[in-house]
Amino acid sequence: MYKQIQLLEKVQMIDIELSKIEDQMVALPQEINKCERGLQDIQEEIDSIKNELKESQSLQIQLQGEIDMENERIKRDKERLKQVGSEKEYKAVLKEISTAEKTIKKKEKELLETMEEVEKREELLKEKEKTAAELTQTIDNKKKLFKKEEEELNRDIEIKSKDRDNIVKDILPDVLKRYDFLKGQRQRLPVVSVNSKGICTGCYMSLPPQKFIQVQKRDSIVLCPHCHRILSWNAQEKNDES
Ligand SMILES: [Zn+2]
Repeated sequence: MYKQIQLLEKVQMIDIELSKIEDQMVALPQEINKCERGLQDIQEEIDSIKNELKESQSLQIQLQGEIDMENERIKRDKERLKQVGSEKEYKAVLKEISTAEKTIKKKEKELLETMEEVEKREELLKEKEKTAAELTQTIDNKKKLFKKEEEELNRDIEIKSKDRDNIVKDILPDVLKRYDFLKGQRQRLPVVSVNSKGICTGCYMSLPPQKFIQVQKRDSIVLCPHCHRILSWNAQEKNDES
């Protein structure tokens, strides 16, 4: 029976390794997903910057057009000045010119601000586009790495599963059934050792003396009365007593 427990312990070791590999297989795509979500956020930012930029650029064109119009008006008014008949009319035209000049000043200030806005947004856009390109490259690299790692991990799983099959075929069906049941219930450690003080290292409860003796005899499968795991007694652990 002791041999059976030793085999179970080997199977358990392989199962722990297999479960670690499975965790790795899950972790990598999660990391890629995170990067892809980040890229999506940046692309949304880029779209909104592009829209704002378009708005600023059309405002810039509009302001420039309005300034040109006012300048035309001044030119026309100055021509008119040469032909006006009355003092009153002369003054009215002068006033028109002065109003147009004020309008131009105001619009030029606005135009300057808009041009600065355009420049700022163009720079920001360039920056965001660079970040997006870098992130795209990172995702690409991660995907390649993942593919390689996945292949390696799958090879590992294959090898370990073969090892496991080889060991399992020497385990009695009832014993294996008990192990599989516990594995389903307790996840990673269906087999646990008993320490020299007669304590189950799965649940850290003391075994009744009779159970402790039974485990040490190693001639039957003994379960912990508290956590129901399969108990194992390893000779080297007797050294603990010293
Ligand atoms: Zn226990």
